[in-house]
Amino acid sequence: MAGQGRRWFEQSKGFEARTRTSDDADDGPDLWTKCPGCGEALFLEVLAEHLEVCPHCGHHFPVEALQRLLQLADEDALELHDTGLTSVDALGFVDSKPYDRRLVAAREKLGRNEAFVAASAHVEGIPVELGAMDWRFLGGSMGSVVGEAVTRLFERATVRRVPALVVSASGGARMQEGVLSLMQMAKTSAAIARLKDEARMPYLSLLTHPTTGGVAASFSTLGDVLIAEPGALVGFAGPRVIKETIGEELPAGFQTAEYLLEHGMVDLVVPRGRLRPTVARLLRLLLDQRESA
Ligand SMILES: [Zn+2]
Repeated sequence: MAGQGRRWFEQSKGFEARTRTSDDADDGPDLWTKCPGCGEALFLEVLAEHLEVCPHCGHHFPVEALQRLLQLADEDALELHDTGLTSVDALGFVDSKPYDRRLVAAREKLGRNEAFVAASAHVEGIPVELGAMDWRFLGGSMGSVVGEAVTRLFERATVRRVPALVVSASGGARMQEGVLSLMQMAKTSAAIARLKDEARMPYLSLLTHPTTGGVAASFSTLGDVLIAEPGALVGFAGPRVIKETIGEELPAGFQTAEYLLEHGMVDLVVPRGRLRPTVARLLRLLLDQRESA
């Protein structure tokens, strides 16, 4: 499942979108990229000023995890959590490469231990436990450490009695950890239930391109409100797998945020530039409701 998820994930336009356009190392750092939505050449600096959204066509480029937290949180410092947790190759798993070598390569390339970054933060002054997945780290897949860090985020929110906000971008469960990875679906879901039962605090889930597999089938679709970014692909199995399984053409826009909104599977589709005020407004509404209940 996760393997299939990663294949189409890598083929998907969002994943390729941030690929630099020049392969000649002698040219120095690349300054621009081509928008996969409209084909315009975009200066990376201009793209960053627009929160990684194409100013011409609105195509949403991927955002790495820490950057995502900075885009959503107030300017006061983020208090990062669980950055020292590291995965182990418990099964001695080898596919085209040993899992432990994949982990070392991802850590070295990204300077990060795992595919999830969590922090205590504020959004328009509201304290919140905030986390984001890093799609670049083994396809944002959820192994034991990602599951543990997500669970701890919900546990901190429960103890502190503050809302939770998690940004998903994932190919699904991490196949190299087998059943240990699948167990994270139950573990994260149970932690959300405790947040709701014990602390009665809201959880907002932001679905970004792409959110699939065991992540789509657990914590990312258990939010009190499901918000998706425009054009995000969200579903359990990818469209190619479904098409091959049922042997039928899929409807236009199948599994996109807009399609899911139309069919009642997500609550809101919000452009990136409007996310922070929308999240704050939702949190205020849900917290007020809780006060008056
Ligand atoms: Zn564009």
